[in-house]
Amino acid sequence: MSENELKAIEAVETLIRYIEDIDGDLREGLERTPERVIESFKEIYSGYVDDAEEILSATFNSEGYDGIVLLRDVEFHSVCEHHLQPFSGKAHIAYIPVDKIVGISKLARLLDMHSKRLQNQERLTESIVQDLQRVIQPLGCAAILEAQHGCMRCRGVSKQNAVMVTSSMRGAFFDNPHARAELMQLINQ
Ligand SMILES: [Zn+2]
Repeated sequence: MSENELKAIEAVETLIRYIEDIDGDLREGLERTPERVIESFKEIYSGYVDDAEEILSATFNSEGYDGIVLLRDVEFHSVCEHHLQPFSGKAHIAYIPVDKIVGISKLARLLDMHSKRLQNQERLTESIVQDLQRVIQPLGCAAILEAQHGCMRCRGVSKQNAVMVTSSMRGAFFDNPHARAELMQLINQ
């Protein structure tokens, strides 16, 4: 175990003592919680090790297909960097290929990579589109995310059902109202 990992476990222990206002040993149910929390972080924050170039590296010839490719209703789970509270929802990711198409699961992996980091929803949305634009250079690309935020459901204004929607568009989806309208129709059908 690395020194940083040990320190992180100790930090969680400190937080638990703070929450329960105790000085001594943790009670039975909490004894191994610090280790479990840090272990779970390996998955929750696993997005720092991947990069978009690698995820989007396997491309195929589009064989003349020049319509919209849309992956709709992809669930994601992320953590808000302002409160360390989870936020989760679904994403719609689209692009219009020029010569190259990517395996459809790669779009989901790209979403996972960015969502498994400390995030805000705006940056998460923007990062997906920036990567698609840079790596596969499509005619257009778009990401629309709908999410519910733990920091809003459980604290602050306590709004249980508020959904935050963010959208980022590049190329044809930004410039061309027809492309954008078709995308919206595909998402909502
Ligand atoms: Zn928050």
